[in-house]
Amino acid sequence: MSYPDLKDLASCRRCKRLADYIKDLPPAKGRTRGEYRNLPVSGFGDPEARVFLVGLAPGAHGANRTGRPFTGDGAGDFMYPLLFETGFANQPEAVSADDGLELRDLYISNVVKCVPPQNKPLAAEFNRCRPYLVAERGGLHNLKVVVTLGLGAFNSYMRLYLEQGQIKRLADYPFAHGASYRLPDGIWVVACYHTSRYNVNTGRMTRQMFVDLMRRVRTLAENG
Ligand code: SF4
Repeated sequence: MSYPDLKDLASCRRCKRLADYIKDLPPAKGRTRGEYRNLPVSGFGDPEARVFLVGLAPGAHGANRTGRPFTGDGAGDFMYPLLFETGFANQPEAVSADDGLELRDLYISNVVKCVPPQNKPLAAEFNRCRPYLVAERGGLHNLKVVVTLGLGAFNSYMRLYLEQGQIKRLADYPFAHGASYRLPDGIWVVACYHTSRYNVNTGRMTRQMFVDLMRRVRTLAENG
């Protein structure tokens, strides 16, 4: 596996399907193309963080527009007020990359850095983008806990351990909301349902579930 420089992320076109999709993505109703960044989206947050939260991919009209993960879409509108409530953010609002939001003891990114059609990256796209995830994770020298939002993020993160020979089978680490595993390098991984608008609207994910999970994550970070 090659390990790319994060400085090259914004110009990455290694996934032609995704680069072409982003280029032609029509803006949401009421917005113009000029409001959209339409580039790979890197992670952001506290470089001293003990907690790394990873989602699947940028939202087409959220992070792809604003350039910051979970900013300007339903998943972020649900999540950031709860990160504020649990002490992981300095404010509940996340509307643009220059809105003053600061993360505390937390870094946030996605396992795939470009918007995929139907929000479904291909296996090759997960694999191609994983080195960027590795690079981001490598910069977090105090890392204790990785929170994965949704099955796609969980599987992509666990594949990293598989590729490195640190675990033998993904099947030994089943995904379930709240499942936590201490991995061979001492880092905890905690599985969480995605905070997507669909999951929130159907009740699969609730405010209390997310708050409870992040409080447990803090305890793991403090005791880990
Ligand atoms: S998904 Fe990742 S590897 Fe693929 S083009 Fe975007 S940044 Fe590059």
